[in-house]
Amino acid sequence: MKTLHGTLLQPRTSTDCEIQTDTTVRIDEAAGTFAAIGTERAPATDVVGGAGCWILPGFVDAHLHLPQWDRRGIDGLSLTEWHQQVVHPAEARFADPDFAERLAEDFASGLIARGTTSVAAFGSPHAAATDRVFRVLARRGLRAIYGQMLNDMNCPGKECPPADKQLDEARDTAAKWHGSENGRLQYAFSPRQPRCCSEKLMRGAAALAEMIGCYIQTHAGESHDEVLAVRESYPDALDDIELFAEMKLLTPRTLLGHGVVLDHDERHRIAETQTTLVHCPTANLFLEAGMMDYVAHRKAGVRFALGSSVASGPSAFMPHVAVACLQTARAMKVHAVPRRSYAAPQAAEAWWLLTSGGAQALSMGDRVGTIAAGFAADCLVVRPEPWINALPEEAQASALLYTLRPDQIEHVFIAGCRVGPQAA
Ligand SMILES: [Zn+2]
Repeated sequence: MKTLHGTLLQPRTSTDCEIQTDTTVRIDEAAGTFAAIGTERAPATDVVGGAGCWILPGFVDAHLHLPQWDRRGIDGLSLTEWHQQVVHPAEARFADPDFAERLAEDFASGLIARGTTSVAAFGSPHAAATDRVFRVLARRGLRAIYGQMLNDMNCPGKECPPADKQLDEARDTAAKWHGSENGRLQYAFSPRQPRCCSEKLMRGAAALAEMIGCYIQTHAGESHDEVLAVRESYPDALDDIELFAEMKLLTPRTLLGHGVVLDHDERHRIAETQTTLVHCPTANLFLEAGMMDYVAHRKAGVRFALGSSVASGPSAFMPHVAVACLQTARAMKVHAVPRRSYAAPQAAEAWWLLTSGGAQALSMGDRVGTIAAGFAADCLVVRPEPWINALPEEAQASALLYTLRPDQIEHVFIAGCRVGPQAA
């Protein structure tokens, strides 16, 4: 049994972020779950945290690209140039599984150091590298949804094998890894985006995901140019969402990245099918793809998680992404003509998206994202700037969100194991 002590921050809903001082959190290391949460005095010795420390659920990053880990912050490119100059060359390196393993180690260390405990990440179109990455994720303790990138058109030749080959490879990798490590690792069939996938590949991915019970992750409505390009490849489909519906890719276990260019009907279709939209506000601005109308999507009932979208998102620290979500919503509000009068999302909503809300959007909210007895013990012990402890409670969650830094993260636990930031 491990004992943590500090101020507990626990988002309950998108408007209610509970803060409880002097809280003791007990972790059952053997079970990998929280055993008890209480306000009794902590024992004098052998306690993690203590005065000035806060205990938070670990962060959820629901959209990023592992092969681009070492390509963050390369500015000045359009989305099309980004694909040609960054994405495909970065992924081509995964033809070498040894390289993939080394980069996966850096990826795991980097995310854990930034407090991310759950990810949904895309790989490259290489089966051997995908298997090797799963081995690293198993060893390093990250909670991960991961999968081989699938594409069979409009991509460089070597990384664009026939649909049958890719589906066979993906099925075998999914059968090997999906649900392994006590459910910590899961597989996502990952068609890159409609412009790069044949109908055969998309239908095959949807069928296999349903048969094995896996996730599906892809990109939708990322920019106006992308949407127009998809129309050229699929002139009969009204829009990305109609095409995905036709391919049976809209499911409660589907994660759609971006969704910047979605109209009223599309967002309602996403909500009806309980598909999750992964909002990547830093990436959307970095590549000038656009600003997603978070408030309109939420009003339509769309399920949301946040994604760093590394590397088109330059920061892998999820509080940066959450702050960008708030700021993008406010920028759209203040620049709207005619003026819009709704309440923009606040810090409580950002914390909820970062933790329990994000876990719910990944269909794992019943066991991850909440610090409560029986839930997977995924949490952070952080030491924020001390003045935050003296603020009125209603200001603390906001101040912590805007000022927390990765170097203030002292301990990261996933499934009850201390996985970082460095060796204890
Ligand atoms: Zn992406």
